[in-house]
Amino acid sequence: MPSKRYQQSPSRPTRRPIPPIEVAIGDRFPLTIKKLGINGQGIGYFKHKVCFVPQTIPGEIIVAEVTAVHEKYLEAKIHRLKKASPDRVPPKDDYAGLAGGFELEHLAYQRQLAYKRQVVLDSLAKFRPFGYQHYQVRPTIAAPHPYGYRNKAQFQIRQIDGQVVAGLYRANSHEVIDMVTCAVQMPATMQAMRQLVQWIQELQIPVYDEEANSGIIKTIAIRESRSTGEIQVTFITNSRKLPHKRLLLDKIQTELPAVRSVMQNFNPGDTPLIWGKETTKLAGDDYLTESLMGLDFHLSARSFLQLHPEQTETLYEEAAKAIDLTPNDTLIDAYAGIGTIGLSLASRVKRVLGMETIPEAVADANRNAALNEITNARYEVGTAEEVMPRWRQEGLTFDAIIVDPPRTGLDQVFIDQILQEKPHKFAYISCNMATLARNLTRLIPTYRVDYIQPIDMMPQTPRCEAVVKLVLNDHHHQ
Ligand code: SAH
Repeated sequence: MPSKRYQQSPSRPTRRPIPPIEVAIGDRFPLTIKKLGINGQGIGYFKHKVCFVPQTIPGEIIVAEVTAVHEKYLEAKIHRLKKASPDRVPPKDDYAGLAGGFELEHLAYQRQLAYKRQVVLDSLAKFRPFGYQHYQVRPTIAAPHPYGYRNKAQFQIRQIDGQVVAGLYRANSHEVIDMVTCAVQMPATMQAMRQLVQWIQELQIPVYDEEANSGIIKTIAIRESRSTGEIQVTFITNSRKLPHKRLLLDKIQTELPAVRSVMQNFNPGDTPLIWGKETTKLAGDDYLTESLMGLDFHLSARSFLQLHPEQTETLYEEAAKAIDLTPNDTLIDAYAGIGTIGLSLASRVKRVLGMETIPEAVADANRNAALNEITNARYEVGTAEEVMPRWRQEGLTFDAIIVDPPRTGLDQVFIDQILQEKPHKFAYISCNMATLARNLTRLIPTYRVDYIQPIDMMPQTPRCEAVVKLVLNDHHHQ
C-alpha cells in the first residue's frame, strides 16, 4: 500500500482528458455515495476515480478520509457523516465493518435484500449470458431471523497486553479484534467462546504468538446444533500437547453442559490454513448431530455444513421446487458435502448419486444415509468431473441434477459433461453470482433460465446465494 503521495503519470505530458489527480492518505473531501460494491462497501467518485467507503449507503453524503491509494481506485473511511440515509440503522456490534462476517449491520434489512438481488443483476450484466436481460430474477427470500443464526464460529485466540482475546482479524491485517459480542452468531456459541477465553486466561494456557511462532492455542472453532442446542468445541493448536487439558475439560464438563464434543486439531507453524490435518477427540462424541428436513445428520469437525440451518431448509426446498422430482427420477447431488441435499430428497426419487472431494464428508454422507435408513443413495469421493464419466461407464442415466459448487463455480469439463448428458431437470445453487453468470454463458442455449431465486443465507453480510431453475430447451431433447 503506497503511503507516500501518489501521482498518476507524473512525467508524461497531460494529453488525456482527465487530468491526473494527486491524492494522499489522510486527505479529506466531500463524497456522495452512489451505489454499493460487490463487498458491500459504498462507492463514490472523487474526480472520476472510484472511491470505496465501507459502512456507507447510496444517497449518503460524507466527508471521506483517504486510507489507501491505488492506481485504479481509492479507499476511504467516514470522517464525518453529513447526510445519513434513512436506511441507516445502528449496528449491533461496535466493530461491525472492521472485519468480515457482519459488514452490513448498518443497513436496514430490507435494503440488504434488495442489494443482494441487485448483485445478481449486476453479475448478469457483466458476463452477459445469452438473453440475460429477460431472466426472471425474483425478490430475495428473507431470513426469518437475521441475527443469531450462524452455527459456527472460528475465532483466533491471541494475547494483547497480557489479555487473552478472541475474534476475527481486522480486514487486511493480522490484528485480532476482541469480539465480546457477535450478533450474527447463535447466542450459546458466543457464551461458550467467552467462557473458554476466560478459562484460558485464568489457567494461563499459552496462546499462539504469530511473530514468535510460539504458544499453543491458535483458534477455537465452535459449532452449534440448532435442533439439539448441543455444541462442539475444537481447539486448534500449534503443538500436540495442551497444557492444563484435564482442568479445562473438567470445567467444560461441569459448567458448559451444552458441550457434547471436544476435539483438538493439530496445525503447527505459521500457515494461512486454519485447520491442520490431524483431529483427535478430547472428550465426548466425535460428531455433532443436526436435523434438517426431518433427517438427522452426524457431522465431524471438518465437514462442511451450511452456516444458517433455518434458511438451509428453505434453500433445499427451493432447489427441490426448481426440479420438480418424481418417484422415477435418478438425481445427482453434485458437490454434496455430507449429503444433506440428496438425502433430504431421497424419499421423493428412485435413486440418489452424489460426489464430493473431501473423503471425511463422503464418509459422513454414507453414514448419514444408513443412520436415516436410506437405501437408495450412494456417495463417492472425487471431483464432479472425475466421477461423472465413471457413472456413465456403469451405464447410469440421470433425470435430475442439483449442483452446489464452491465459490469457483463449475469446472468447464463438468459443464461439458452436463451438456452431453442433458438431464432435463437442473437446479444450480450458487454462492457466487460472478461465477454463476460466467457458467451460464456456457450452459445456455442448451438450457434456458426459467428463473433465478436469490435467498439470503448470510444476513448482515454482502454474501449472496441463489437457486437457478434451468430447463432443457426443446430442440435439445433427445
Ligand atoms: N451441498 C452441500 C455442500 C456445498 S459446499 C451442502 O449443502 O451442505 C461445496 C462442496 O463442494 C464442499 O463440500 C467441497 O468440498 C466440494 N467440492 C469442491 N470442489 C469440488 C469438485 N470439483 N467436485 C465435487 N465436490 C467439490
